[in-house]
Amino acid sequence: MAKHPMRTRLKTTSSAPAMELWFESKQPEDLLAPLARAAAMLFATVDRKRVRKCDQCVLHFHDTSKKGTRRWCSMQLCGNRLKVAAYAARQRKN
Ligand SMILES: [Zn+2]
Repeated sequence: MAKHPMRTRLKTTSSAPAMELWFESKQPEDLLAPLARAAAMLFATVDRKRVRKCDQCVLHFHDTSKKGTRRWCSMQLCGNRLKVAAYAARQRKN
């Protein structure tokens, strides 16, 4: 974050001035600025025990489930893959 900082500027709109985050993109590594900020915001604002790595892919996610036992990043992607694999494993046993 220190090497690739996000900056704040005052933006004028038709209704009222507003604050806006931005970053300078002089070199490819500067694109890390919004990623680093988003990761820092995540770890600073949520219970870290609820930030976990997905069982099926490289992604990490914030578990907002009631029980706090979610194991995949997205039901549509990895959750479905996991359930299909579990179903196939059950079928092989029978
Ligand atoms: Zn995943």
